[in-house]
Amino acid sequence: MVDVADHSRASACLVLLGPPGCGKGTQAARLSERLDIPAISTGEMLRAAVTEGSELGQRVGGIMAGGTLVDDQTMADVVRDRLGRDDAQHGFLLDGYPRTLPQAATLSSVLEGRQQQLDAVLFLEVPEAVLLSRALARQRADDTEEVIRHRLHVYEEETSPLVGYYNERNLLRRVNGDQSMDEVTASLLEALEG
Ligand code: AMP
Repeated sequence: MVDVADHSRASACLVLLGPPGCGKGTQAARLSERLDIPAISTGEMLRAAVTEGSELGQRVGGIMAGGTLVDDQTMADVVRDRLGRDDAQHGFLLDGYPRTLPQAATLSSVLEGRQQQLDAVLFLEVPEAVLLSRALARQRADDTEEVIRHRLHVYEEETSPLVGYYNERNLLRRVNGDQSMDEVTASLLEALEG
């Protein structure tokens, strides 16, 4: 159980899991504020690196544009570094990481090295048809329908096995993501308290 009411003792280590277009970004920001822990979005970090034109950005720009995943080793470095910063010492909400089974293993060993462990994995469930129409509606200039479909396919292949992985470890909390934004936030907080 995660103490949602008492901010002063916030120490929740959380993962927000779900397919592209499920509303993770919005909900991560809301939960971050409510629980007083940083929301860590690997997608945002990579996009910032691309904008900066850093060495990392130059390496991942093309991969991201195609809707494919950046390699696990690169992501391990990004996440280890980010979780090492001061603001993440007493909890965090990861959005967009882990995305593969090897990444889940990396996360668990990084946390183990810090004498921490995950408290819960919040899984936002949204039907595929809803995801596709949402994704097409918020389509960015460089997102073709083909790229959007590819992202959904990559999610099914690479990321959806994490649902079983975390379920087996009793960490998975399923939340209906096909509701209004406020209802989803309320359901997420409820799932944490349960
Ligand atoms: P997102 O904003 O989470 O959808 O991430 C945007 C893109 O960044 C993804 O399509 C991937 O190319 C890349 N990315 C973000 N997080 C990861 C991750 N954990 N593993 C591999 N690639 C990632």
